Amino acid sequence: MELDPRDLARSNSVIQQTLSSSDFPRLEAALPAGRVPIVLCLKFSLDENDRVRIEGTAEFTPAIECHRCLRVVPTRVSQGLNICIVRSGKEADEVMEFADPVIHADRMMDIQALVEDDLLLGLPRLAAPHGVECSSPRSTESGVRPDRQPDALSTVLDLKEQMGLK
Ligand SMILES: [Zn+2]
Repeated sequence: MELDPRDLARSNSVIQQTLSSSDFPRLEAALPAGRVPIVLCLKFSLDENDRVRIEGTAEFTPAIECHRCLRVVPTRVSQGLNICIVRSGKEADEVMEFADPVIHADRMMDIQALVEDDLLLGLPRLAAPHGVECSSPRSTESGVRPDRQPDALSTVLDLKEQMGLK
C-alpha cells in the first residue's frame, strides 16, 4: 500500500489498515509458523521541526514455537510505533533519542517500508511465548533466568537447529 506521509501528516490523519505478514518478507522469514493478519493503527502529524511523525500500534498473533518446550503457542504481539521520517543519516542521528528514524526522500512510500523494522523489533520477546509458565521439559539451560530474552536471529537459528535445517 502506497501513501504520502507528509500529506497525511498535514491533515493529522489516522490510518487503520490490516495487512498480512506475507506483505513483510523479512518478518515472514522470521516467523516459523504460517501467515497472520497484522492490524496497523497509525497516527500522522508534523512536529515543530516540520518532520513527519507517526505514532501507533501494530498488533498480530503469530503461532510461535516455544524454543524451550517446542509447543506452538498463539502469541499476541502489540508493538508500539514511534517513527520520525528524515531525509539523511545525519538527521536520523538527531531524532534517534526520541523516535525511530526512517530515511525517506520521495513523496510516496510503501507502508511496509515504514513499519517493517519496528515489527521486527517486536520479535525478540517471542523467544519463549508462554514465558515463565513454560514447563521447559526439553530445556538444557537450567541455569537460565526466565526473563532472559535471546535476540531474534539466535532464536531463528535455534528453531532451524531443532528442525534439522542447520
Ligand atoms: Zn515453552
